Amino acid sequence: MKEIILIKNGEMALKGLNRSTFEAVMIKNLRRRLRPLGQIRIVNSQSTIMIEPSSDDFDFEEALQCVSHVFGIAAFSRAAVAHKDMDDILAKSVEYLADIMSSIKTFKVEAKRSDKHFPFKSPEICIEVGSALLTAYPHLSVDVHNPDMTVVVEIRDSAAYIRCGQIRGAGGMPVGTGGKAAVLISGGIDSPVAAWTMSKRGIELNAIHFASPPYTSERAELKVKKLLSKVAEYSGRINLAIVPFTEIQEQIAKNCPEEYFTLIMRRFMMKISERLAVQDNCLALITGESVGQVASQTLPALGCTDAVVSMPVLRPLIGMDKDEIVEISRKINTFDISIEPYEDCCTVFTPKHPRTRPTISQCENAESVLNMELLIDNAIQNTVYEYID
Ligand code: ATP
Ligand code: MG
Repeated sequence: MKEIILIKNGEMALKGLNRSTFEAVMIKNLRRRLRPLGQIRIVNSQSTIMIEPSSDDFDFEEALQCVSHVFGIAAFSRAAVAHKDMDDILAKSVEYLADIMSSIKTFKVEAKRSDKHFPFKSPEICIEVGSALLTAYPHLSVDVHNPDMTVVVEIRDSAAYIRCGQIRGAGGMPVGTGGKAAVLISGGIDSPVAAWTMSKRGIELNAIHFASPPYTSERAELKVKKLLSKVAEYSGRINLAIVPFTEIQEQIAKNCPEEYFTLIMRRFMMKISERLAVQDNCLALITGESVGQVASQTLPALGCTDAVVSMPVLRPLIGMDKDEIVEISRKINTFDISIEPYEDCCTVFTPKHPRTRPTISQCENAESVLNMELLIDNAIQNTVYEYID
């Protein structure tokens, strides 16, 4: 029996004249994601996208998993295809729903008839299909208020489709419709969640990681790559820049007042990130900061890090509690990787008493002994790039 995936668009259905542009980007993303699984045909009709496998070896289960990770999709379902003929609809309903019907006790049928030429009206379709299912599976009964399962029969221009239930999609906007931004990624819990959250709004991701070997290990870098590949299951390919940060941190540790170590380091990170972002046409930076989480994330401290860049800094977790962030990281499967022990460059030279209420001029004073431009140029020149899929 021919089976397809039916997709209902999310928020972009509201985009009026731009809707077709958003849909085209989402279809391109779907195609890229599903290509390795076998041949498919994608049809966009009557505000629904249909994915039809055209090869026998198409991995349907894996395809459903991929679809669940594509932003822009509100809901999706698998459905059997029938001719627009009542006998065929009844036969296919009985056959297609056999497995699921054996595991439930009550059901109801809903009909959606967008082809108004179909000779049966919606209530008649419900009665016909309901009766056929009751005859085939006598242990069932109909419950229109609280059924174990709702069977939906859709009569569209192209064919009739039989499905039960809908799976919630990833929501958001198709990646690529919101421009590109660079996420500052550590190996912690927060920054992968921040990356995912912005990707959900249609933003294409670049990533920047600061590494301080030998203080930080190769394992820490590997961890960042593992985290990004989890995010990439949603966002698509990510261009990762690994910036050598050792010299900068040693210079700060040697020459600057200890209470400003973290802040100065973060100002370097922001400056370097902005330069890399501009080079690669990114329009914003993304961080995983949340107000008050640590000393460098108080409002005055955030003001000092923002002061060195002119591009917008997106902080999608800014008002979230740690447990809310953890909940998302579990959902996107980054949590277990994030909690692997590792050392981040931020934790290498941590001051005992960091400033929680710094001012911009205090930071500028504290860092004035450094040749910032030279240090930044060196770091950028020695940055290495890698694509993460
Ligand atoms: P957690 O480690 O609890 O997940 P965090 O990494 O967000 O928290 P901080 O170490 O204060 O907490 O870093 C704040 C933000 O700075 C991070 O969310 C991330 O965006 C950025 N950042 C920290 N370390 C690095 C790094 N080594 N490379 C790139 N960005 C970093
Ligand atoms: Mg961290």
